[in-house]
Amino acid sequence: MKRVLFAFMALLILVAGCSKETNGKKEEEVNQSEENTEVKDGEKEQVEEKHVEEAIVFKKSSPIKMDKSLPLETLDAFKVQTRENENEASYHLDLTLKEDDVFDVVATINVKNLSQDVWDDMIFHFIPNAFTEENKPEYLESKADVSIREILIDDNSVDYRLQHDNLQILLEHPLHQNEEQEVKISYSFTVPTDGIRLSKMGKNFYLAQWYPMLSPYHSGWDKMDYGAGESYHSDFSNFTVDYHLPEDFIIASSADNDPIQKSREGKLAGENIKEFYMTFMKDMNVSKREVDGTEIRVFSYPEDDSHREKHLELAAETLLFFNENFGQYPHKQLDIIMDEGGMEYPGIVTVSKGGPNAHTVIHEIAHQWFYGMVSNHPYYTPWIDEALTNYATYLFFMKGQNQGPGTAFTRANDLLQMGKSHGPMKPSNLHTVDYTGQPMSYVVSVYENSSLELWELSGENADVGLDYLRKYFNLYAYKEVDANEWLRYTRAFFQIEDVSQLSDWISFEE
Ligand SMILES: [Zn+2]
Repeated sequence: MKRVLFAFMALLILVAGCSKETNGKKEEEVNQSEENTEVKDGEKEQVEEKHVEEAIVFKKSSPIKMDKSLPLETLDAFKVQTRENENEASYHLDLTLKEDDVFDVVATINVKNLSQDVWDDMIFHFIPNAFTEENKPEYLESKADVSIREILIDDNSVDYRLQHDNLQILLEHPLHQNEEQEVKISYSFTVPTDGIRLSKMGKNFYLAQWYPMLSPYHSGWDKMDYGAGESYHSDFSNFTVDYHLPEDFIIASSADNDPIQKSREGKLAGENIKEFYMTFMKDMNVSKREVDGTEIRVFSYPEDDSHREKHLELAAETLLFFNENFGQYPHKQLDIIMDEGGMEYPGIVTVSKGGPNAHTVIHEIAHQWFYGMVSNHPYYTPWIDEALTNYATYLFFMKGQNQGPGTAFTRANDLLQMGKSHGPMKPSNLHTVDYTGQPMSYVVSVYENSSLELWELSGENADVGLDYLRKYFNLYAYKEVDANEWLRYTRAFFQIEDVSQLSDWISFEE
């Protein structure tokens, strides 16, 4: 199966560059089912005295389902009905890299309960622990080592449970509505060599989801096990990060104030962002340009210089186009790292080495609007940001680069044909885990068929398509769109009276 996957991935990359789910590893991730439900960290008792060894049980939220019986609305009278996250977190992260590649972290997180529930626990994603020997995906050769030293709440040591990437902190004093507690988590970790996003590649460290991320709360914790696709979710938060490194590194991160020079000490800050990604890199070349008040920086290995300037040129065009057509990009810096395959983070994206990768560069930048600013749950509704991001990419080809639709949608049409030759298409709106073991179906249904269906709904008119995305962005910036809200908006925009018009790609069975 694995070999088939890799052959498929190679084909995808040949067709049109590589998006985040087409970097091979990602497809493998899609294959991971949610195993690992046992607690397996018994050996670490010495350092984890407060580690309670029982299965984690916590109150879970449920996803909002589509209601196809709702009356058709008009856009003029349309009122946004998103649900607010019922907690708030702000993060101060103190990160030290020691000589032996061990990261030491003290994460101080202020957590506020905005729900009506009285909490006796808090649930965090703790993704470094998904890559330990016990938990890592089989195909990953290297592993992470993770050790929690201590967890304090308001300076008192508390009990916790750690199981796969679920970190449950048991509160000695319940947290009521509008109350706040300061959680201090001290831990160390190493990253897998050639890992998945949390990784050391050559001399570079790539740190994605490296700190405890508070799970959103909607009458229950919105936490799924890490494993299938992007099965983590987080709300908008403020961050400050102090870093201490043994030597000078190039720093690129989600912050707006990455230093210009290499450095070994510094303080970074990011406001109102969904997560804080950072990299420490050695010996990378950089090209920069100021566009519309944003500094774009593209980093590549010295031996991989051939596409850096082209990526910078394309990123500048893309940023200008999306600023003009959707709304202003919110950060002072936009970093593009040419390593690690395609993936989006606030203020920074990664693409594969080499090129041309035009589709990936545009796609990951489009995510700054659809994911970075308009949120959706990547586990329950992966199609929402992926379809809109991909559609934005094709519209850029048409309106920003004057390509005809036949050329602009080449990738989508080729992949759709390839997908159909493998059997019946799955709907585009399933949960990430429902495509487990079917990476082709995932890519074709979630990304490509959805883009083509939106194109058809737009009457094959790129201006209508851009208007659909612009209005969506302006209604939902810094909110979280769920399946039903997407349906309400899409029906109102395109005036879809009968939802069976969507049944070629949207299932109402979920
Ligand atoms: Zn994407």
